[in-house]
Amino acid sequence: MFALCSNTVPVNERQKDQVPQPIAPLPANVSPDVASLLNEAVDCAALADGLVFAERAFALAQHRTPLDRAAAAHVTCFFLYRTGATDRTITFGESMLPLVKAEPMPAAYAEMLRWIGVCACDSGLFGVAIKHATEGYRLADQTNDQRGRVLAFSLLGGCFERSGDPWQGERLLRDGLALARELDEPYPLITTLNNLAAVLIGKFYSLRDGWAATEGRTALEDCLPLAREVLHMAPIIGDPYLDAFAHGNLGEVLVHLGQLEEANTLLRAALALADIGGYHAVSPRVRCSMGELNLARGDFSTARIELSALLAERNHLPTVSTQMRVHYALYLAHRGEGNAAAALAQLEAFRKIESQRSMQQLKAKSEHMVMRLEADETQRKGLEQAYGVAQAHASRASELERITLEDELTGLGNRRALDMKLADMVASARTTSAPLVVVLLDLDHFKQINDRFGHTVGDRVLVQVARLLGEHTRSSDVVVRSGGEEFVLVMPGTSAPDAFDICERLRQRVSDYPWATIASELRVAVSAGIASAPDYDAGTLVERADLAMYRAKRAGRNRIAVAA
Ligand code: GH3
Ligand code: MG
Ligand code: MG
Repeated sequence: MFALCSNTVPVNERQKDQVPQPIAPLPANVSPDVASLLNEAVDCAALADGLVFAERAFALAQHRTPLDRAAAAHVTCFFLYRTGATDRTITFGESMLPLVKAEPMPAAYAEMLRWIGVCACDSGLFGVAIKHATEGYRLADQTNDQRGRVLAFSLLGGCFERSGDPWQGERLLRDGLALARELDEPYPLITTLNNLAAVLIGKFYSLRDGWAATEGRTALEDCLPLAREVLHMAPIIGDPYLDAFAHGNLGEVLVHLGQLEEANTLLRAALALADIGGYHAVSPRVRCSMGELNLARGDFSTARIELSALLAERNHLPTVSTQMRVHYALYLAHRGEGNAAAALAQLEAFRKIESQRSMQQLKAKSEHMVMRLEADETQRKGLEQAYGVAQAHASRASELERITLEDELTGLGNRRALDMKLADMVASARTTSAPLVVVLLDLDHFKQINDRFGHTVGDRVLVQVARLLGEHTRSSDVVVRSGGEEFVLVMPGTSAPDAFDICERLRQRVSDYPWATIASELRVAVSAGIASAPDYDAGTLVERADLAMYRAKRAGRNRIAVAA
């Protein structure tokens, strides 16, 4: 998938031939020697050169004022971000944020929040990303800055998509797009279009081989006109980074829609732009698309060679999302070449990252979003303005809370609700040394149920299982649908043996339910894993329960296992 693009302030006027890098202008009182190096950096067309000047300025600024250090940190962070140095952008940026925040340079601060946020999002640090996005939103709101709001929506939307909810991501970005179209400025609009395109492509990848493959295909078709629009707009600004991004997006969509000739031209152009500019965050994705293009042409061996080379890169490893794409494409390439063992190895590598990522998603905290929305009256007002809703502020906030915390299908809480509650429940059990269990419950062979009876029946099964779980647990227990056909139960004050009895009864109730009333010959069973405290650590409990659940699966399904 895609590094979100995050650009901000329009190019400032300079008496130079080439267009300077698009970042917020330097504050007026920066010391002349530091300022001159920073201007030098910003005027560099090649990012690698710019980074050298910025770092030199940063070193010099250590002997000057805090404003000098903050200004140099801002410019350095920009170059780290655009050269694709994701980890360094996060560590360096995080350490410099307080300094920049303290100086009178709000535009620079907002930009840094976005760059770090995008990198955090790409690295699976969703909590950090959401924190910065909401902070950016708050700032924009204080100054009634509509473009700041648009850019904050853009980042938030990306966070949602990466953390496993492309639907919410799309909603936020479409809201952002409506606002961006009202602004008289191309930058926020181009950024939003690029990011919405990226989120829709991401939605396609999450859905393409599952029960909602048609919806995935629709996401691509929705993406096409947006990706075309942004490609036409990008040259207006004269920022080749956005141009590379736009070419890459459209090329990628066309590959998956089977329009290979046009895709080829666009991807080559994207690669050339990325190479010239040194955009190491852009090129791995484009190279992955080139591999997928060869795959689509049936040229499996070229695809395999290109894609394997991408994984062997030492300096600029693709992001987690791109790595998943590469493994999946390599699986198809090996399969095409008739090498079953190699294909299987790639599929396993793909699944491994996928399950690690869902664990990260499970752990990701998004309470920042909801809590701040709830708590901050000013922000709430701003949000309504942004949405053009003048009156119903309370209802909007609770609507947002509902969207963000509720699973639409079953009405249970979702993964985010779990994240919010589990940490508190574990903390309070720890304080009183009380028992607590976490149960991971997964439907058995659910894919076969979908395949055989259709996914409408699958959905009804999920709703009914959710109901049974709700009916046979206490009100102090938390029951959520954590994703797909998987549920998590948290039972405070319950020991492992008691939890085993409860789960055993639940398992029995599910298997005894008259499923034939939904579809004849339908049978449903569940497997579950139980982990109990101590250890009082939310992440560990979920991981142990997950392992136990897999043990129950391996032991033949329709059973309960307790974690060691
Ligand atoms: P196992 O017993 O090993 O858990 O096998 P399984 O088939 O249940 O597990 P697998 O992970 O292979 O498949 C889960 C399926 O659940 C695949 C996916 O299409 C389906 N699924 C996920 N979310 C939904 C949903 O909201 N509705 C429906 N109908 N199906 C869903
Ligand atoms: Mg299952
Ligand atoms: Mg499952």
